[in-house]
Amino acid sequence: MGKREELKNQVLEEIEAHRAELIDLSLKIHANPEIGLQEVKASGWLTEYLRRKGFAVERDFCQLPTAFKASYGEGKPAIAFLAEYDALPKLGHACGHNIIAAAAVGAAIAIKSVVNQRGGRVLVIGTPGEELYGCKATMVERGGFAEVDVAMMVHPGTENVATPITLACSSLEVEFFGKAAHAAAYPDEGINALEALILAFSNINSLRQHIREKSRIHGIITAGGEAANIVPAYSRAIFLVRAGDEEYLKELKEKVLNCFIAASLASGARLEYKWGEVSYALLRNNLVLAQLFAQNMESLGRKVYPPDPLRGFGSTDMGNVSQVVPSLQPMVAIAPHQVSEHSPEFAAAAASETGHQGLLDGAKALALTAVDLLTNPEILARVKEGLLSNNTPSPGGRGVRGRGNSPSSFDRLRTGSNLSRQGRGI
Ligand SMILES: [Zn+2]
Repeated sequence: MGKREELKNQVLEEIEAHRAELIDLSLKIHANPEIGLQEVKASGWLTEYLRRKGFAVERDFCQLPTAFKASYGEGKPAIAFLAEYDALPKLGHACGHNIIAAAAVGAAIAIKSVVNQRGGRVLVIGTPGEELYGCKATMVERGGFAEVDVAMMVHPGTENVATPITLACSSLEVEFFGKAAHAAAYPDEGINALEALILAFSNINSLRQHIREKSRIHGIITAGGEAANIVPAYSRAIFLVRAGDEEYLKELKEKVLNCFIAASLASGARLEYKWGEVSYALLRNNLVLAQLFAQNMESLGRKVYPPDPLRGFGSTDMGNVSQVVPSLQPMVAIAPHQVSEHSPEFAAAAASETGHQGLLDGAKALALTAVDLLTNPEILARVKEGLLSNNTPSPGGRGVRGRGNSPSSFDRLRTGSNLSRQGRGI
């Protein structure tokens, strides 16, 4: 057995040895869902556990109270496993971020022995608020990944996919200000802010017929009046605008905004709007990393599929990390194809036996990939080179082959068809 294989076996044994503790962590986070930037318990449990395992822990990382950095070892390379642990309002862990967190911790603990022997550093970076705030984007801006050589995380889904496709995404908050009046006696005195919002929805529905296929525009009304006998003087909504590339997202944002401006003109209600401070960038899959991960995942007996360009997509703030650091964010199956992320069924899967298995296999495949990187400087160099090339498979299936990737591995990861549901992230 080669030295690398020996290390890989050690790493697998480590994760098995921590099986019960990792599942316990995952279930605790699952049972105590906390939404973005309120993940006090989750970040507390994760950092406490990592501290007990010998990691140096920094809280309030990047000036975000529920973010953290835990590190073990010295010098380079610095391999970071990213932990998400925020839940969705009302639905709890319907995106399975409890599994992301436990898998990151499991992989990091398992890699300690490799770091002891080979040098380098392993980090767990706790990244809060993925669903609502895109906090990784903020952390990138604040230099949170400046020392990181490779960033990896695994996300639960309905298929094992090494190179998921995501959409660029921006949020928009709008408010209409009208004028209250008696809705029956003096409607002519009123300016109806709710009607303005309904017009805007209608405008957007018309626009929707003429936008590029993978684009998405969707929103909710968060204020729409107080009583049926008062003309609503105020309305508010939150929208997400998504597109398959950054350029088209820019174009689409303008068109969407025009829908609100037109509604304001038609109704007489004054419009105020605010685009979200951060946008979710496209995920740039590092294909060298993805190939390593796929091989390692398959060595565990899980078949890895290429992404299906015909299915739905979400967005992730890991996209922002992937713009500055070689990144990997594969999906590990924990539920059948027909189950949608962000549903009660997916939340149940995130605490099920298949969820636990996904956690353990995800942690193992991440850790095995880290062994490849820590024991082979040439592969690490190729991974870094991959960052310089445009190797993002786009939803249209267009993508440029990354330098250093053999066509067969690239094509295998990028193309082909399967019937999996790839939708993910926010
Ligand atoms: Zn998610």
